Amino acid sequence: MNIPFAESYKIKMVEPIRRSNCNEREQWIKEAKYNLFNLQSNQVFVDLLTDSGTGAMSDRQWSEMMLGDESYAGASSYYKLKSAITEITGFPYFLPTHQGRAAENVLFSALIKEGDLIPGNSHFDTTKGHIEFRKAKAIDCTIDEAFDTTLDHPFKGNVDIRKLEKMLSSNPIERIPMIIITATCNSSGGQPVSMQNFREVSKLAKKFGVKVIIDSARFAENAYFIKIREKEYANHSIREIVKEMFSYADGMTMSSKKDAIVNMGGFIGLRDQELFQKASVFNIMFEGFITYGGMSGRDMNALAQGLYEGTEFDYLETRINQVAFLGEMLKAAGVPVQYPFGGHAIFIDAKRFLPQVPKEQFIAQTLAVELYIEGGIRGVEIGTILADRDPETRENRFPDLELVRLAIPRRTYTNNHLHYVAAHIINVWERRNDIKTGYSIHYEAPIMRHFTVELEKI
Ligand SMILES: *Cc1c(COP(=O)(O)O)cnc(C)c1O
Repeated sequence: MNIPFAESYKIKMVEPIRRSNCNEREQWIKEAKYNLFNLQSNQVFVDLLTDSGTGAMSDRQWSEMMLGDESYAGASSYYKLKSAITEITGFPYFLPTHQGRAAENVLFSALIKEGDLIPGNSHFDTTKGHIEFRKAKAIDCTIDEAFDTTLDHPFKGNVDIRKLEKMLSSNPIERIPMIIITATCNSSGGQPVSMQNFREVSKLAKKFGVKVIIDSARFAENAYFIKIREKEYANHSIREIVKEMFSYADGMTMSSKKDAIVNMGGFIGLRDQELFQKASVFNIMFEGFITYGGMSGRDMNALAQGLYEGTEFDYLETRINQVAFLGEMLKAAGVPVQYPFGGHAIFIDAKRFLPQVPKEQFIAQTLAVELYIEGGIRGVEIGTILADRDPETRENRFPDLELVRLAIPRRTYTNNHLHYVAAHIINVWERRNDIKTGYSIHYEAPIMRHFTVELEKI
């Protein structure tokens, strides 16, 4: 008999969650203006909105919380975190921040000016937000294969080296302060970047004298995929792979709420002292003194411990196999899901699920609302609402992909929860032809509208 996969941990504490019925949910989502961010968490049964800050900390992380040093300056927690970051990433300089977007705010304040161009592989929404807020532009150089959800490619997060080279050579180089590599690439579906790609981007960046910054939220999951899919790395440890990945970069921004398995936190890692000093000024202004940067001592302790746990092979194998467990159930039933499966989430291809809904009516959002009403499952739209309007023309940007992301929190749900999720999605798949119309926008914010958008049913 085949041996099924078993988790590399057991459960010590539980939190009750509540079921509801379809009638209740129809009422709640209407009151939430058909925006899943507006729901109360107790109106959700299985919450796959995000894997950000929603993971379960370990007994060791909770123990570290009790050892936190809350000194304003020079806390032992700061030094514990600094030593973990340097050991794992190799960056000699670091600044703590309260979360990932704060790291972007601080670093971009030091690096980006109006009119700049920032190439990368499908920038994350807050990253793009912080670029566009500074009247600079994010240029997407992801490989084309990333946008075909049916294509089997091991590293759909890769930067297209030819697109990047063309971009670098056809623009004034002083307007390109950095290249941002997002690993794994969230916007293209939690897809990894290969070590070869890191190496090639770094080589090109050096040739043009441009910095490489890694948007690192899921760096450890990326390293796992390198180990599994890139032959030369099969016998390397996750930590060795992580070190090499970062060796190709000048700096990193980190949302610790992902692969460092804490509920809140972030940081910047840097190689260059001068840039560190420049960024420190903004850190003090926006986040706090450089030895805490918006984090409590106890949170820095839990984060240091989380960095070690998050880069263990057994943990990552459990994590990525659980995500694939959900993916395989959906795929077997014919539900169109992105393939290969991402590291942190399963992405449903909403254009292929609901081809009859016009793109102007927000296809992925329509499906996400339907899954909520069906089973109390909260996913998130990665489609036209998220893509926002073009900052110049103010027209809706219609992305190539309309996805519903089901993000799996770390060490939080059991496979039975995911079985429940799959069964409900398959029920919606079987009645998909009855869903004919979507939504129109009643209210939207001028930037990052997806968080607060209000919709009306058509
Ligand atoms: C989550 C995330 C961010 C932003 O981090 P927050 O902690 O949510 O502010 C930036 N980049 C990527 C790739 C992320 O996944």
